[in-house]
Amino acid sequence: MTILLNSVESRDAAFVLHPYTNASQHLKDGPLVITRGEGIHIVDSEGNKYIEGLGGLFCASLGFSEQRLVDAATRQMKELPFYHSFGGKTHETAVELAERLIQLSPVAMSKVFFANSGSEANDTAMKLVWYYHNAIGMPEKKKIISRMRAYHGVTIASASLTGLPNNHRDFDLPIDRVLHTDCPEFYRYGRPGETEEEFATRCANSLEQMILAEGPETIGAFFAEPLMASGGCIVPPPTYYEKIQAILKKYDVLLIADEVICGFGRLGTMFGSESFGLQPDMIVMAKQLSAAYQPISALMINEKIHSAVVAESEKIGTFGHGFTYSGHPVATAVALETLKIYEERDIVGHVRNIAPVFQRRLNELGDHPLVGNARGRGLIGTLELVRNKETKEPFKPTDGIAIHAGKQAQVHGVITRALGDNFSFCPPLIITEAEIHELFDRSTRALDDTYTWARATGLY
Ligand code: PMP
Repeated sequence: MTILLNSVESRDAAFVLHPYTNASQHLKDGPLVITRGEGIHIVDSEGNKYIEGLGGLFCASLGFSEQRLVDAATRQMKELPFYHSFGGKTHETAVELAERLIQLSPVAMSKVFFANSGSEANDTAMKLVWYYHNAIGMPEKKKIISRMRAYHGVTIASASLTGLPNNHRDFDLPIDRVLHTDCPEFYRYGRPGETEEEFATRCANSLEQMILAEGPETIGAFFAEPLMASGGCIVPPPTYYEKIQAILKKYDVLLIADEVICGFGRLGTMFGSESFGLQPDMIVMAKQLSAAYQPISALMINEKIHSAVVAESEKIGTFGHGFTYSGHPVATAVALETLKIYEERDIVGHVRNIAPVFQRRLNELGDHPLVGNARGRGLIGTLELVRNKETKEPFKPTDGIAIHAGKQAQVHGVITRALGDNFSFCPPLIITEAEIHELFDRSTRALDDTYTWARATGLY
């Protein structure tokens, strides 16, 4: 691309360090400048319009032009643009949002702690696991088990929970006390002849072995996304969570459900925990909580955790944790309005109604020569691209197959992101049936072009 002096493009290269971007490649390619949004579409500075196939970053559930959210933010800005919630201060929108979340929770929860991002909420959850065990006089019970290919964020604690090499390498992570057990992706890790249920049993046995090897008295918590999204849309095999939760119960290990992507309708249930029968002690939420119109996250805790916090405060005083913007009035007002819209428009029902069309179109692409496995649930899905469908041989990371597919998708008017070798879809929840067909028609053309390119360059 030609980059003009003093253009947004050239100033971007000059001044911005981009998250999750190849810094060297970016200096050559320059940015894609997005100027506005319209329903499920975004428009770039050259006027090209794209379907946002990943809902931004799995978050823009109501698309990019929901006036009611703009109005909610404006109203709140005029009334009370900021106040904090330290030292017992509060304001009505934060209270109302907390109340609403407790009502919506799939399991009995007691209190809500607000933060600004999924990473911060997971960080808070991890600190509360430690705080809780100190409070109840079990200071040894501090190790935390997450899973390989999990995604829980990028702060030092949450990146440690994340189970992806790119988030650890060169950052000196994970920190001590964080362990990673098996990833429940049957397609990749199931053994020949093994059923999905047998694979689930093997995963649960392996978790138990880890707990026993470390000493159950040292294991405090298990973190899980109900469906692992960023690691490659990994749908747990049947009976997996039943078996995992039996082990957690047996060794008195807390369960934290990271609902940052699954929460608020993505899987056709309000929370992913409902889809898979999770009974968590804490629930982490962000993204679709505010339809991404404001940065906000929340951590719900049950009464077991809360009463320990109260008891500890009686001994040591103030609970020493909180963010300046915990429960920010504008963010909570927008989140509250988002939840109202979900209810009024029955967004969860809408997802349930159109998910079969989405999943059918996704699964049909399983026949494509580049696709080893098509999988998903509700309005999220992925195509795992492989070099050989029979042997499941993957492409080399340096082949950049999914990155290339993403670029082709962009040419055909679809934005998505490469997640390893996964070509993934997670559109705004408001997508219509006709738009789902458009999304997959365009993506099929992108895959066909990627296949032609892979053959021409000898990758396939
Ligand atoms: N948890 C999950 C399941 C996520 O998908 C993400 C972000 N993709 C996070 C946590 C981290 O959220 P944030 O980027 O807001 O810190």
